[in-house]
Amino acid sequence: MHRQSFNFQLLTINSKNIDLSTPITYLPGVGPQRAKLLETELGITTFRDLLYYFPYKHIDRTRLYYIHELTADMPFVQVKGEILSFEEEGQGRKRRLIAHFTDGRGIIDLIWFQAGTFKWIKKNYLIGKLYIVFGRPNVFGGRINIPHPDIDPADTLQLGKMGLQPYYHTTDRMKKSGLNSRSMERFTSTLMEKWEKEPSPFVLPETLPDALIRQLALVPRGQSLHDLHYPASADALRRATYRQKFEELFFIQLGILRFARQRQQQVSGHVFAHVGDHFNTFYHHFLPFELTGAQKRVIREMRRDMGSGRQMNRLLQGDVGSGKTLVALMTMLIALDNGYQACLMAPTEILAEQHYATFCEMLAGMPVRVELLTGNVKGKKRRDPILEGTRTGDVHILIGTHAVLEDTVEFRNLGLVVIDEQHRFGVAQRARLWKKNEIPPHVLVMTATPIPRTLAMTLYGDLDVSVIDELPPGRKPIETRHFWEERTESLYSGIRAEIAKGRQVYVVYPLIKESEKMDIQDLENGYEALCHAFPDLRISKVHGQMKAVEKDAEMERFVRGETQMLVATTVIEVGVNVPNASVMIIQNAERFGLAQLHQLRGRVGRGAEQSYCILVTKYKLSQDTRKRIEIMCETNDGFEIAEADLKFRGPGDLEGTQQSGMAFDLHIANIARDGQLVQLARDTANRILDEDPDQCLPENARMWTHLRELNRNTIDWSNIS
Ligand code: ADP
Ligand code: MG
Repeated sequence: MHRQSFNFQLLTINSKNIDLSTPITYLPGVGPQRAKLLETELGITTFRDLLYYFPYKHIDRTRLYYIHELTADMPFVQVKGEILSFEEEGQGRKRRLIAHFTDGRGIIDLIWFQAGTFKWIKKNYLIGKLYIVFGRPNVFGGRINIPHPDIDPADTLQLGKMGLQPYYHTTDRMKKSGLNSRSMERFTSTLMEKWEKEPSPFVLPETLPDALIRQLALVPRGQSLHDLHYPASADALRRATYRQKFEELFFIQLGILRFARQRQQQVSGHVFAHVGDHFNTFYHHFLPFELTGAQKRVIREMRRDMGSGRQMNRLLQGDVGSGKTLVALMTMLIALDNGYQACLMAPTEILAEQHYATFCEMLAGMPVRVELLTGNVKGKKRRDPILEGTRTGDVHILIGTHAVLEDTVEFRNLGLVVIDEQHRFGVAQRARLWKKNEIPPHVLVMTATPIPRTLAMTLYGDLDVSVIDELPPGRKPIETRHFWEERTESLYSGIRAEIAKGRQVYVVYPLIKESEKMDIQDLENGYEALCHAFPDLRISKVHGQMKAVEKDAEMERFVRGETQMLVATTVIEVGVNVPNASVMIIQNAERFGLAQLHQLRGRVGRGAEQSYCILVTKYKLSQDTRKRIEIMCETNDGFEIAEADLKFRGPGDLEGTQQSGMAFDLHIANIARDGQLVQLARDTANRILDEDPDQCLPENARMWTHLRELNRNTIDWSNIS
């Protein structure tokens, strides 16, 4: 466990190399059995994997404390002294071995609870011998003790050289086989030793250009990898971490941006050169309200894209109710003005129908033919004219579900595709749309699941991002309140008051696949209770086990205002627009994630009236849930909520990103916490691509080589678009 003084020069100068891809079994101390565990539990199979398995924390082993300085709230400490005597106390499970230990200034107890080890301890730790004891102080009966300490003879430990001791995560299965953090430490220190002492040490070539290393004052790669395990000081650890995080994020950005630039060069797009009658007539005579500043800006951004001769690939983010649909409609009119057709894809039939109704209403009186194509549109009589019209170009705007992707759907000249609520569409489905034309259509992806900027830069790094960050005027912010589930009476009187004003109410129950039966039961019970409490009301009920036709019919009744209350599972989550609904009650709110709660809340607050979101939970809540509910009650800002969500759960389980899938693993950087570094990495990558567009500058050669290696091993960029 002794640290090696380290000659970094060796890492880069010596050209004979033991490859980092050497199997881990070649490391002294790792036999076949442990190798197997390392592989199955941690995915470590080579020297490289081990080198990149970074400790999650370090503990300072240079400092010795005096016993009289110790308090129970200290983290790990070490003291030097001798054992005065042993003593066994307690019975059964409380049986314990105590060693009274002194450094001449005070006395503490060292305590062990595993009776099986008592004999060994008493035999091996000698009374009167000088030891260094390491552990986490605790207090019991007013006395400080250290349970299960690490004990080393004082003359074998060179604390000055131990520096910061690394701690590695290990799994339960590993621990059961005796592989703990200490074992991992032994492996990595053996690796470091080998690294230095072998007749032909590893070559660990630098990956970043020298100029960049100088500009950003980064530590060299070899040193940073060493220091991440065995830093000489806290500062060395900080610098090593910074270098490694930067490198990780930088190569991701470099890969994404290079891919995006290549696509821009290779794929040309339809040129929408002018804005004409459709757009202008609509804007001046049909638009029922003034566009918000954000809507105007976003439309301008898209006009620029579509006029450029390159294919537009744009992600439009806007909180629920921010008016994305209208932006989509006006962008489509630009396509029409240039003689092209446009297509809008929605994730569900209900949404497609709603978009269709909105478009028909808004465009009534304009010479634009809009058609709807969903799985519900059956029969030759209904389908054929739509398909025929799409083929001949008589249909200008086709709205639908993924039915529009079927091979039978042919466009005359599809110029623009808008995809609403993107996360319900897979990458493969999007790719199919491209095939419908020789020149791929412009693509606008709209999402109301706000994705924090840093994550968007990483996940959709090749898409340009537009943001509508302003709600139409006159909306009152939704008031969100937390109710314990016992308080049904005050909940009911609130509902009664709103319905008396002519409003409608949503009541939502969670639906989780694994417990579907129970969830449906919850919903049925809730429905019955409500019917009982409000005998004079008409109440709709919608859940996933109903037939699509029934479900739609019931939804329709609510949309038309024939029913005053809608009791549903999360089917209403996305997009449904009933401006007259002013109350959203979310039952078992503790079972929803932040993003989903926010989505659901967005179903109300669409009219000018004051709206409410009621989060109903049981009384006993975990810390995290309490925090989630608090955030919901505090803010309506989707981006703030998305940031919080990202911090809570990590990017991996963020709703809306699961299906797009992170195509890369981050070892050390954290997109939620390292936002500034993501930006720096992206700016730097952009600058380098500007300076070296053909990837041929000799000073960058090692960087491009490394990127190619990474691509080969881990990242398939084409999956990210
Ligand atoms: P999103 O799809 O972003 O959730 P929608 O496009 O459904 O939002 O818009 C929500 C509501 O706001 C719709 O009823 C729409 O007509 C209305 N709306 C959109 N833009 C404006 C605006 N600039 N001023 C007033 N109302 C608007
Ligand atoms: Mg919408």
